[in-house]
Amino acid sequence: MRIGIDDTDSPRGMCTTYLGAVLGKRLARAGIAVREARLVRLNPNVAWKTRGNAAVCLIADGSPEKAFRLACNTVRELADLAHEHTHPGVVVSEGDLPSWFYRKAVQEFCTLDEAREIIDQAGALSRGYKQKRGLIGATAAACSDFDDPTYEILAYRNPSSWGTPRFVERESLFFADVHTYPHTWDTVDRENDLVVCVPHTPDPVLFGIRGERPGWVALAREEVVSERPSLEQVWTTNQGTDAHLIPAQAPDLREGCSYLLAGTVASAPVTHRGGHVSLELMCRDSPLTCMAYEPTRQFRDVVRALLPGDRVRVAGSYKQGSINLEKLQVISAPPVRLSRPPVCGRCGKRMTSAGKGKGYKCRRCGGRGTEPEILDVERRVVPGWYEVPPSARRHLARPLCRGVRQDLLSLVPDP
Ligand code: ATP
Repeated sequence: MRIGIDDTDSPRGMCTTYLGAVLGKRLARAGIAVREARLVRLNPNVAWKTRGNAAVCLIADGSPEKAFRLACNTVRELADLAHEHTHPGVVVSEGDLPSWFYRKAVQEFCTLDEAREIIDQAGALSRGYKQKRGLIGATAAACSDFDDPTYEILAYRNPSSWGTPRFVERESLFFADVHTYPHTWDTVDRENDLVVCVPHTPDPVLFGIRGERPGWVALAREEVVSERPSLEQVWTTNQGTDAHLIPAQAPDLREGCSYLLAGTVASAPVTHRGGHVSLELMCRDSPLTCMAYEPTRQFRDVVRALLPGDRVRVAGSYKQGSINLEKLQVISAPPVRLSRPPVCGRCGKRMTSAGKGKGYKCRRCGGRGTEPEILDVERRVVPGWYEVPPSARRHLARPLCRGVRQDLLSLVPDP
C-alpha cells in the first residue's frame, strides 16, 4: 500500500518529512513493514506552500485500515493544525494510482476535485483536515513514480531543542563534502564558503545530506559532528532531477510552471538595483526576459558576459513575466570581431580614417591604407553549462555534477 501525507507544517514549526519518519517507526512497531520512504517535491511555484513544497509517501506491507488509523492519529498529534495555513491530507491506497497526477503536481497545478476523483477511482482511504488542501499533495505523493531517484538522509532534532540554535560542526560538513562529492551534493557551497544542508527555520530538521545512492549519503553522514539527533531517515526523492522542467519550443508559457527553452540573446544584459541581472532573449520570434537574482551570486557574471547574438538554453520557473534562471547553457558565444585602422607600413604609426569610404591615412608620413586591422577579442564566457550556486539551488533542480538530462535537451533544439 501507499500512504501519502501532506500539509502538516507551518512557518513556525513541524515538517511533513519528520511526521512521516515518526509514522514509519510507529508502523514498524505495529507490524507494518515500510519498504520505502519517499520525499516527494511538488511544483516549487505553488504560492500556498510553507517552504519547499514537500509531501511524503510511505510504501508499506500490511493492513491499510490499521495504517490509515495510525497515520491519522500521527497527523492529529503532530501537525500544526492550529495554524491558519495548515490543511493536512492523508491518503492510503492499495489500488493502482495514476502517475500522471504526480507529474502534473510537479510541473503544473492540480485541484482538490482532481485529487478526490483519483482517490475514489482507486478506492483509497482518505482524510482531509480543515480546508483539506493537503489531499492534493498526499495524493500526488502516493501517485509518485521516480524514474531517476536520488536520496537524502535527514537527521531530526530532539523535540526539546526545536526553535533553539542548532549545533552542527561546520568543518565536519566540509569534510563530508570533500570525501563524497559529486556522489553527494549541496551539503556546502564551497565557492561561497557556506553551509547549505542545515536549515535556519524552527522546524525539526537538524541537517540533510543529498546524494546519488543511500550508501553515499550514509558515508557522508558518518562524517558529521553534531548535537545528537532523535531520529534519522533515508528518503528516496525526486530532488536534483529537473522533474519540474517542461521542454518548450516557443514561449507560450504559463505562470508558475518551469521550463527548458532555447533562444538567442537579443540585447546586452542589464544589472538592476539590488544586483539583479536581466537578460532579453528572442525565442523563435517572441521576446523573453530571464532574470538572475542577487542570491545567485557569481552565476550573474556568466549572464552579464553574454552578448547579442549568443545562442543559449535556459532553465527556470516562469514567474511574473520572466524566467527565473536555475541554469543556462551557452551554445555559442563567438569571439567579438573588432576592426581598427591599420598600422602604417612605412613609419609604424597607427593610421586614422581618411573619411567615409576613403580608407586610412598616416598623419605622420602621409602613407595610405585601404584594409582595416581585424581583431578577434576572446569572450569572458565559453560554451558550456552554468548553474546557480548550491546556496541558491531549488530542491528539484538537477546539479550539473549529475549531468544534463539528454531526454529534455533533445526536445529543445538549438535556436
Ligand atoms: P514542507 O516542505 O515543510 O513540508 P511545504 O512547503 O510542503 O512544507 P505545504 O504546507 O505542504 O508546504 O503546502 C503545500 C500545499 O500545496 C499542500 O496543501 C499541497 O497539497 C498543495 N500542493 C502541492 N502541489 C500542488 C500543485 N501542484 N497544485 C496544487 N496544489 C498543490
